[in-house]
Formats: sequence, C-alpha cells, structure tokens
Amino acid sequence: MPAQTVFETDPDEHPLLQASSIAVAIIKKARLEKWEDLNGQLPTDVELTPEQFEMIRKYERELLWIRANGATAIHCVCQVCGAWTLTTGTANTKCITFGCDGRPVKAKTAKRKK
Ligand SMILES: [Zn+2]
Repeated sequence: MPAQTVFETDPDEHPLLQASSIAVAIIKKARLEKWEDLNGQLPTDVELTPEQFEMIRKYERELLWIRANGATAIHCVCQVCGAWTLTTGTANTKCITFGCDGRPVKAKTAKRKK
C-alpha cells in the first residue's frame, strides 16, 4: 500500500476555494489534465477528510473547469457572495457581481499535510 496523501485546507476559506485547491492538487499528483480524467474515482493513495469529500461532491460541476496542463486554470471566488471566475493568472481585484464589494481570492494548489 502506498503512503496516503492528506491535503491541508483552510476551513475559513470559501468551500469552493477549498474544493478547487484539493482538486487541482489531486489532478497534478495523478499527472492528469482535468478532473474528468479521474473518471469519478479518487486516487487510492489520497485520503480526504469527510468535510473535504463533501465539498468536492458539492462542487463537482465547477471542478470540471480546472485545467492543469501548462498554465493552471483555477477558481477565483468572492468570499462575500461566492461568485466565481476561472483564472490562469492573478485574482481579479473586483467581484463580478454588480454592487458587491467582495474581493475575489484565487485558489492555491493544496499542500500535503506533514
Ligand atoms: Zn461578490
């Protein structure tokens, strides 16, 4: 049995940011290009907490947008209203929702827990 990989997420972050961070880490670890390439199966050497698993299930459709070939395309989420965009660069400075003052945050590839 290979050693289990556990990823660290920040419980204070928007759940889509956490789901996106874990998903991109899993895709990269498995050397795949996108979430669909997993064919609905999590790699057996990755262990998620029940909370992380729930977030991934909840945002399954959103995770299909992630790309890990070359420039990583990852979610940028407004912490106030939850509106998201996809970015390969830096986070947008303004939320896309009209009248929302929230500042979007870009998901980072989740780190392995030591
Ligand atoms: Zn917003």
